[in-house]
Amino acid sequence: MKFKYVVVGAGLAGLTVAERIASELDEKVLVIEKRNHIGGNVYDSYNEDGILIHNYGPHIFHTSDRDVYLYLSRFTQWNDYQHKVLAYVDGNLVPLPITVETVNKLYNLNLDCSQLEGFLKDKAEKLDEIKTSRDVALSKVGRDIYEKIFENYTKKQWGVDPAELDTSVISRIPVRYNRDTRYFADRYQGMPRHGYARMCENMAANKNIKIMLNTDYKEIIGLIEYDILFYTGPVDYFYDYKHGRLSYRSIRFEFETVDKEEYQEAPVVNYPNDYDFTRITEFKKLTWQKHGKTTICKEYPCSEGEPYYPFPTKECKAVYALYEEEMKKERNVIFLGRLAEYRYYNMDAVVRRALDVFEEVKNRYEG
Ligand code: FAD
Ligand code: UDP
Repeated sequence: MKFKYVVVGAGLAGLTVAERIASELDEKVLVIEKRNHIGGNVYDSYNEDGILIHNYGPHIFHTSDRDVYLYLSRFTQWNDYQHKVLAYVDGNLVPLPITVETVNKLYNLNLDCSQLEGFLKDKAEKLDEIKTSRDVALSKVGRDIYEKIFENYTKKQWGVDPAELDTSVISRIPVRYNRDTRYFADRYQGMPRHGYARMCENMAANKNIKIMLNTDYKEIIGLIEYDILFYTGPVDYFYDYKHGRLSYRSIRFEFETVDKEEYQEAPVVNYPNDYDFTRITEFKKLTWQKHGKTTICKEYPCSEGEPYYPFPTKECKAVYALYEEEMKKERNVIFLGRLAEYRYYNMDAVVRRALDVFEEVKNRYEG
């Protein structure tokens, strides 16, 4: 069997590359996917009660990259959802990220925005170097807020102390000296109006795209001749773990449907210090679906299971660097996506990377 282009993995990285090849180059492309559906981790579906859930955890689209937004908008319309998160701390629900509202609720104060910077400056620890996620939090908000909001959540989520994780993890949560309590401040935000799975189906709807589900690429790749392979699976698996296994953090998602219209005050409530789960998501509050019942999801982080989060520690990065050396030697394999590049990518960054990879390939091979 001969295909000029083969893609491993039908997540957003793989689908974006496949769609571009099929539409812009008008070339056939084979996509090999080991799961029984496309979409990767953004996949959503209707449960037995008819409520739209995100099977691999809550996914909220947000970007400041206009090209990415316009590209995905070819395949879906959006609702104008703006993400809100509350954290349950000392018996109160406080908004995240940290804003003047958060500090006022935590300490029963009435600061205005101009006072917040000074307040946090007094609390912040002065460190010579910011090397870890712990340093990031201590230097921005000080020990008390670190302990109330970041320390235990991070220990639950990653199974290690924030001092073991590089700065990228806690840096995802900004401090805002204003009253903007949205979780993200990006220009474009929303949920695909008919869900992510539908958006992905639309991306894959080109007749040039052939999809093989339920197939690990290793079962079949020896039988296929190709010019270029785009690989979006785990990189250590590609190389048969020759430099050892990369660590990924996994999550057990526990779904529950309750017989009432509404479950909690916000779409996502974080529990830094209580319970074994990190957060509860109520899907209807993201998707704006109307239904008499509501489905929630509790997230229990764990080390075994599907690889969801690359593990940002020094040790893991050192192992990844060994694989990177191998990757550089490949002539006709391009590695992209969260698993192949071992990066804590959001959806928009994955699509951006796939669009850039496509342009490079187009210029190099189709010039
Ligand atoms: P994936 O979606 O993982 O796709 C890779 C595909 O390759 C999978 O379908 C897999 O089955 C397949 N595959 C793997 N190995 C093989 C093999 N051997 N053979 C064949 N196929 C294979 N991003 C946001 O922007 N906003 C959010 O709110 C958000 N929330 C998230 C919540 C959670 C719990 C997680 C885990 C991620 C979240 N993300 C979020 C990140 C988002 O999921 C990723 O950026 C995006 O899905 C990555 O796409 P990908 O194609 O690189 O990888
Ligand atoms: N985090 C935290 N407390 C919170 C929320 C987040 O300590 O209430 C930390 C935690 O280490 C987490 C990281 O910030 O892994 C990034 O949070 P984000 O909400 O971006 O996580 P994701 O949605 O990617 O799981």
